[in-house]
Amino acid sequence: MKVSIATVRARMLAATAMVVAGLAAPASAVEPQKPYAELTPRPMWAEKVKEGLYVVRGPLGPCLPMPCPAVPSPLNPDGLLHEPGDVAVRVTPEGLIIVDTKFAYNIPELLKVIKTISDKPIKYVLASHYHADHNGGIGEMIKLGATVVVNDKLRDAYDRSKHDGSSPQVTFGDYGTIQLGGVKVEMHHFATGHTRGDTFVYFPDLKVVHTGDVAPEGMPTFDYRDGASAVGWVNEMYDLLKLDFDWAIPGHGRLLTKDEIRQYVKNVEIMNDRMKELVRQGVPVEDTGKRLKLDDLGWARSASTNTFLLAGSIPGYYAEMKAVLEQEQKLDVPH
Ligand SMILES: [Zn+2]
Ligand SMILES: [Zn+2]
Repeated sequence: MKVSIATVRARMLAATAMVVAGLAAPASAVEPQKPYAELTPRPMWAEKVKEGLYVVRGPLGPCLPMPCPAVPSPLNPDGLLHEPGDVAVRVTPEGLIIVDTKFAYNIPELLKVIKTISDKPIKYVLASHYHADHNGGIGEMIKLGATVVVNDKLRDAYDRSKHDGSSPQVTFGDYGTIQLGGVKVEMHHFATGHTRGDTFVYFPDLKVVHTGDVAPEGMPTFDYRDGASAVGWVNEMYDLLKLDFDWAIPGHGRLLTKDEIRQYVKNVEIMNDRMKELVRQGVPVEDTGKRLKLDDLGWARSASTNTFLLAGSIPGYYAEMKAVLEQEQKLDVPH
């Protein structure tokens, strides 16, 4: 059954409050947070974020998707570690709420790792955005009986990218909530940044937010085929910073502090200014990837840098910054 909720509030199930403290401890060991540079290829694993909240990382490998494509492509081995999107698992006495699903082919391993956290059923699946490395597994989760709740623009993009007949059952506009087992989870869509349907999933009682690819470990990428916007990206990050959180679960990589997110926004603003300057100088679009200075931002070499430079963000980024520059110049002209 498909249900669209036009109201800003998608309260789906109000359950009477139960005590969270009675949950079984997970069997998996919690590993310290390490950057990609200190990690090696490995299967999926779970890390505890806070009591009742876990992140499932990995599998880590030399490319996406894994195994690496036989045909040469920007996704072939590049000496960097890659992983499908980080999955958040919120445990409640009445079942699990998860954020993102990784690729469809990751589902069997994901379910095994989630079982080490809790044997309760997955009740709700929320999504940060439609990309297959984050939510290729939505169809599998629906088959397993979960209810998928997403931003309505995200569902449009998902439905266009997916051809197995699956579609999220419930949508919301800019804000939605889930209540299960006395736990409230909020979903915020602030603006178009990485994709049109970017959604931040916020756990207010724990002060943790899942950012999806809006803040990966590495540089941000903009999906211009889905109408992305680098300017919108900065705006949505400033809205994100208004939420009260101390840890962010990124789309890929280690947990980030709020201060690290603040710095990340500044870095993107610097990058946008640099791109605008290249446009202003008349640098041809095909040369801007090489000329865009990223090393002092920590993004000279990361999996997402390769996605950005090789997989086609540059023409859209150039066009957007050109439009911004023209707008600024128009405003400067006295009337
Ligand atoms: Zn991603
Ligand atoms: Zn993405």
